[in-house]
Amino acid sequence: MIDLIENKITGTNIAYFIICKRKMWLFTHQIEMEKYSDYVEIGKLISEESFKKERYKEVLIGETLKLDFLKMGNEIIVHEIKKSRKMEEAHIWQVKFYIYSLRRLGINSHYGVIHYPKLMKKIDVELTEEDEKEIERALKEIEIIKRLDKPPEIINKPYCKKCAYYFFCFI
Ligand code: SF4
Repeated sequence: MIDLIENKITGTNIAYFIICKRKMWLFTHQIEMEKYSDYVEIGKLISEESFKKERYKEVLIGETLKLDFLKMGNEIIVHEIKKSRKMEEAHIWQVKFYIYSLRRLGINSHYGVIHYPKLMKKIDVELTEEDEKEIERALKEIEIIKRLDKPPEIINKPYCKKCAYYFFCFI
């Protein structure tokens, strides 16, 4: 089983793995362009300005898990805040990964919620046994990609234009 802390696997790694394996490689090789991206900055602002009254906001677990907020009840529910639904599949797997990581720490968690405050929408997420296997397959593939000498090929999708790494791929 892949060690999440030793291998520094974060929710961002998982989301980028779904969006673009090249982006994930660049990110894991400390080429961090997000701070120069207006889109990323807007997303951060929305996250900071939403759900301000939540008690357990921006919860850090170890060096790798940064959860937007948690709710405690019979079990822990992971909550993630996003700007738009364009990358919804990546958002869903990011939340599933958070739940998976908490479960590996022995924490009782099965569910999450993704909030899109600007759209006034939210979607529920559940981690199934099949999802756990899928995440473990993804973790192995992530480790293989990280060890490549150079990044995977450009994918050239419409969303590349809004990607923080656009200049690495198209200039
Ligand atoms: S610009 Fe496109 S190909 Fe390049 S890292 Fe971003 S998503 Fe991947």
